[in-house]
Amino acid sequence: MTDNDIREIILTGIGVSPGICIGKAYLVDVEGIDIVEKYHISQIHVHSEIKRFKLAVKKAKNELRAIIDNTPDAIKDHADILETHVILLKDKLLYGKIIETIEADLVNAEWALKKVVSSLKAMFLNMSDPYLKERAIDIGHVSDRVLNNLLGTEKVNIASINKRVVLVAADLSPAQTSQIQLERVKGFVTDRGGGTSHTSIIARTLGIPAVSGLDRATKTTCNDDLIIVDGISGKVIIHPSEQNLVAYEERRIQYEMRMAAIDRQSHLDAVTLDGQRFMVMGNIELPEEIVSVLDHGGDGIGLYRTEFQYLGRPDFPCEAELFEKYKDVVEVMAPRPVTIRTLDINGDKALDSPMESVEDNPALGLRAIRYCLRHPDIFKTQLRAILRAAAYGNVRILFPMISSFDEIQEAKAMLNTASEELLQEGILHNRNIEIGIMIEVPSAVILSDMLAEVVDFFSIGTNDLIQFSLAIDRGNRQVAYLFNPLHPAILRMLRQTVEAARAKGKKVFMCGEMAGDPLHIPVLIGLGIQEFSMNPNAIPLAKQTIRSLNVENTLSFLTDILKEKTAQAVMERVQLQFGQDGGYGD
Ligand code: PEP
Ligand code: MG
Repeated sequence: MTDNDIREIILTGIGVSPGICIGKAYLVDVEGIDIVEKYHISQIHVHSEIKRFKLAVKKAKNELRAIIDNTPDAIKDHADILETHVILLKDKLLYGKIIETIEADLVNAEWALKKVVSSLKAMFLNMSDPYLKERAIDIGHVSDRVLNNLLGTEKVNIASINKRVVLVAADLSPAQTSQIQLERVKGFVTDRGGGTSHTSIIARTLGIPAVSGLDRATKTTCNDDLIIVDGISGKVIIHPSEQNLVAYEERRIQYEMRMAAIDRQSHLDAVTLDGQRFMVMGNIELPEEIVSVLDHGGDGIGLYRTEFQYLGRPDFPCEAELFEKYKDVVEVMAPRPVTIRTLDINGDKALDSPMESVEDNPALGLRAIRYCLRHPDIFKTQLRAILRAAAYGNVRILFPMISSFDEIQEAKAMLNTASEELLQEGILHNRNIEIGIMIEVPSAVILSDMLAEVVDFFSIGTNDLIQFSLAIDRGNRQVAYLFNPLHPAILRMLRQTVEAARAKGKKVFMCGEMAGDPLHIPVLIGLGIQEFSMNPNAIPLAKQTIRSLNVENTLSFLTDILKEKTAQAVMERVQLQFGQDGGYGD
């Protein structure tokens, strides 16, 4: 087949990070278990096939042992689950049955494994006892490990990619995405995912075009296929026609020129036409990103997602390591504020340790403040590091996922303990910092009048607030179309939160992705949000948008849109009044 015979394929997904790139595809993973081949073996090969299987099991056992041995003490208790996996490897129902199947059916080990595992999993899933039901997950983990050893497949290490490519993956975890090296990866596309998943947020921070929720990108693309990624419209074109190649190259240049022009104005303050200044801050995941915040004219750090320092490693960072990192950020940013959010682990940012138990609903599980209050040592280590760094600049502390009054009281008590300990130990620190909470759970909105009494500020996390209020998994492409920050219910929640804070003289900021969309900014100003925090790349356009607005107008506009009953109607009014060209500049 010649290049001319290859047909252009256009897929449409969700544009999760704006920009256009054109490059060669690089497949990251294709869900190994689905592509197991079946082949028959002759009787004389049965022995060697069984030996191959046994070797794969032995290797899996050694891998598990190594992980158990390297488990940090803080989570040693959870290693039990891996001990179960080691035992399961040799279980008669699994190990014995696979060997029997190779012998009886004269099939390859991979196929025998797949066959036995499917029926075993089905058997456990049909059990009514929830504990036994969950064992199906363990069987899946154990068999995947053995299968990978049989196939010799390993997940591609993203950090080691050494050519300029466009990544194509079934899914990318936030930990994988944060390994992307900008000089290597032009953009990425995934079968799964939605616009406010952490993977998408990282893509926007990196400033690389990305499209998610494509469903069959991995099935349609081969390594080295030419591919166009349009992160603005959500289109992905595989084997583009000459005509599309030229058109998209032209669009890419236009988009980049337009962004460069906006960037050049980024050092100007965000002052509205009627003279009100708004702070436009940056969200960061890693300390290195402060450079990008400053380059893009950020007024400070509105959200430092500290969990990324805990991901992709087998142990927990110690106080000294955390302190050094926080201090670097705080010193460089001083006197600008740095809002350090305490660990928001789990949800879609699971620790890299298999010792953590698998949760059915991780977004609703033991994450963020719940995890920290359950693990006081891990929490206190971080609080001490934050208080110490606070002696070097302007620090605010932010607690995530607060859903009740007692959680904030407990978190504050822990902060006091950390500070008293430091005082007794004679270690330099600063306890006189502003304390805030994320408003990202509906109960926090409902209780906002009470919560406002015990904190200095609120920071609204619309990514989770929308997920929980509208019952939309933020990473699920099937329901991504419902994820609308302008939903009347969300607007009312925002209004309630701002009013509750105002009544107590407290400040309200926003650090969810809603804050970074120029279309939402007039609405948010009308609502009374005082500070915006977003991906560093979004700062210049947000500042420019604010400079084009008049606060008085946004107030009257808000009164009008609060009367609208549907998200669609609100959207249309906002588009009509403040809409732009969608990013292409044409
Ligand atoms: C949010 O939920 O809006 C938020 C800013 O926090 P994260 O995206 O880290 O969950
Ligand atoms: Mg959140």
